[in-house]
Amino acid sequence: MIHRSAMLPRRGFLAGAAAGSLAVGLPGPSSAKAPLATSQAPYYYRLKLGDAQGTIVSDGTLPLGDPKTNFTGLAPAEMERQLTDNFLPLDNAVLEQNILILTTGDRTVLFDTGMGSLKTFGPSTGKLLATMKQAGIDPKDIDAVVMSHAHIDHCGGCMADDGSRNFPNAQYYISQADFDYWTDDSKAPAAMKVFYDTAKKNLLPNRDRMVFFKDGQEFLPGIQAIAAPGHTVGHTIFMITSGKESLAYIGDLTHHPVLLMEKPLTEFAYDTDPKQAAQSRVRLLTTLATNRIPILAYHFAWPGIGHVARQGEGFRYHPQAMKMEL
Ligand SMILES: [Zn+2]
Repeated sequence: MIHRSAMLPRRGFLAGAAAGSLAVGLPGPSSAKAPLATSQAPYYYRLKLGDAQGTIVSDGTLPLGDPKTNFTGLAPAEMERQLTDNFLPLDNAVLEQNILILTTGDRTVLFDTGMGSLKTFGPSTGKLLATMKQAGIDPKDIDAVVMSHAHIDHCGGCMADDGSRNFPNAQYYISQADFDYWTDDSKAPAAMKVFYDTAKKNLLPNRDRMVFFKDGQEFLPGIQAIAAPGHTVGHTIFMITSGKESLAYIGDLTHHPVLLMEKPLTEFAYDTDPKQAAQSRVRLLTTLATNRIPILAYHFAWPGIGHVARQGEGFRYHPQAMKMEL
């Protein structure tokens, strides 16, 4: 039998709950004197991958603004339905920046570097170094900086504003196509100037420490490059393997857990070639779904670990519960 209160409309239910708490003598509204916090502490999350340990460190959230100007090819009503069905705001697409630091026995590898000091998307970015400090990881201990592509939110944290290296002992890994494209601003449209300036600032000083990986190459032990072009000319995802476990670091293969997934041919405003990006997305997400390979999605909600599954004409992201014991 259903208790009568379970059938009450919402307003009546809340009123009933309040009356109930008074009836059993629970305290009323809080009278705590502590000031309300205005931000989270720098956040990180550890995970085990075979014999290696990963730490996901956040560079902070990346609020893109109106989803309709960022994601194109969906009818407005369809976009509104997808966002509403998934309890997401209609007026601001807020992405995360989930940066992976992988520690194997003899090497510490950083995957992408966040926005650095740029405030193109507001004050919430640029937290990588603070987060690393919180996690107890010294930037001097980073041996390799591996970049999925040369966009501002991935290469922006290589160099400090005073021209020094944030990771002074690292070798840098990126596709040559992206290095060449984003460090040559001779044909850059004015609207993209910050992208070229940022790539030049962060990549050119490290030219002599730069290693260009090739599609399919295991360029570091257990780390394989897989070309996923379209978002940028040389955009690359990484298959990371340790022991019997694998994790796909998917970079910007998909930026949004819903809008580029339910109908994955939807396009993203920052794609260099949005049609090619969509083809890469469908092809590689299909492989990851079929083989049930866990993913780390750079821009999905913190900490961005989960799986993709085929659903309808596209995909659905299934976040993995955080594991608090290693
Ligand atoms: Zn990105």
